Amino acid sequence: MPVTYDELHQQLWEQAKELKAQLEALQRSVREEGVGYSNHMADVGSEVFEQARDVSLSKTLRHSLEDVEAALHKFDDGTYGICESCGTIIELARLEALPSARYCMQCQSRHEGKR
Ligand SMILES: [Zn+2]
Repeated sequence: MPVTYDELHQQLWEQAKELKAQLEALQRSVREEGVGYSNHMADVGSEVFEQARDVSLSKTLRHSLEDVEAALHKFDDGTYGICESCGTIIELARLEALPSARYCMQCQSRHEGKR
C-alpha cells in the first residue's frame, strides 16, 4: 500500500508532538540540574559532559521540530510534497522515509555535494 498525504500529515503531527515533549523534558532536566543542588563533586565532570550532550541533543531536536513544523505549514499552504528548490513533486517513497523532506532527491544530493 502506498502511503497517502493524509497519513504523512498524521505522522508529522505525531512527530511534532513527540519532539515537543522530548524538548520539554530536556529543558526541565537542564533547569533542575542547573540549580546547583549537586552534592557529589566527583560527578561534576560527567555532569558537564551530560549538559554538553543535552545542549547538542536539544539543538538536534529543535532543528527536527523546525523541519516538521515547516512541513506541517506546507500542508496549510498546499505546497507539501513539492521540492523547495526546483518545484518538482517529491516521490512518495522519499516522503514516506522522511515526511519532513524539503527537497527532491536530486536537489538534496546537489545540496549535500556542495558542502
Ligand atoms: Zn528539486
